[in-house]
Amino acid sequence: MPRAVIFDIDGTLYDYSAAHAHAFRAVTDYAAKALGLTAERFETLHDWADERLRAHTGGHCAAIHDRLIRYQLMLERLGLSIAHAPKMERLYWSTLIGHMAPNPGLHEAFDWIKARGLGLGIGTNMTANWQFAKLERLGVLGQVDFMVTSEEAGTEKPDQRLFQLCAEKAGCAPEECVFVGDSLRGDALGAQAAGMRGIWLHDGTTEDAPGIARIDALSRLPETLSKEC
Ligand SMILES: [Mg+2]
Repeated sequence: MPRAVIFDIDGTLYDYSAAHAHAFRAVTDYAAKALGLTAERFETLHDWADERLRAHTGGHCAAIHDRLIRYQLMLERLGLSIAHAPKMERLYWSTLIGHMAPNPGLHEAFDWIKARGLGLGIGTNMTANWQFAKLERLGVLGQVDFMVTSEEAGTEKPDQRLFQLCAEKAGCAPEECVFVGDSLRGDALGAQAAGMRGIWLHDGTTEDAPGIARIDALSRLPETLSKEC
C-alpha cells in the first residue's frame, strides 16, 4: 500500500474534452457576435496564438495554458481592443466549470484513500487559480492534502521537478507515492521515471506500457491500489 496517492486533474478527475467543447463553442459564438469572426477564422487564430504563446514562453511553463494571453494575442493581431480578452477568458472558464462532472468513481476513490489515512495530492500542468476552482466545483478540494501546479513548479510534467515536489509535500519517498493520470507520457511514465508508481487511466487503448498499471475507470482504483501497489 502506498503512503500517498497523487492525481492529475484534467481528463482524470473529470471529462476535460466534453467540458472544453462547450467552453470553446461559447467563446467561438462570442467571437462571431462581438468580433465578426467565423468559427473557422477563430479556430485558425486560436491555433496561431497557441503557437505564439509557446514560442514566447519557451513552451514548458504553466503560461502556455493561459487563455487570457491567447485571446490577448489574437486581438492584438486583429487590431481589436484587448478589452475583449478578460470577457472571453471569464466566458471560457465559467462555461467549462459549469459543464464539469466528476468521472465515475472519483468520490468513492477519494473517500477510500482518506479512510485509510493515505496522503492525497494533486500534480497538475496548469495555473493554480483555475485548478482550485475545478477542485471546488468537483467538491473534493477539502480532501486534498497538497497540490503542485506547473505554475508553482516552474516546469511541466513530465519534468521530474514537478514529481519531486509532490513527493516532498507528501513527506515520503517517491517509491511510496502512486501517481494517477490520463496521460501515459506526462503522468504515468513521468511518475515512473521519478521513482513513483504510475497508474494510467486509459481510454481503452491497447498501447503497450511496461511496468505501468492501467485502470479504465477511477472506480477500479481502490482494487488496484490494494492488489498491485
Ligand atoms: Mg490530464
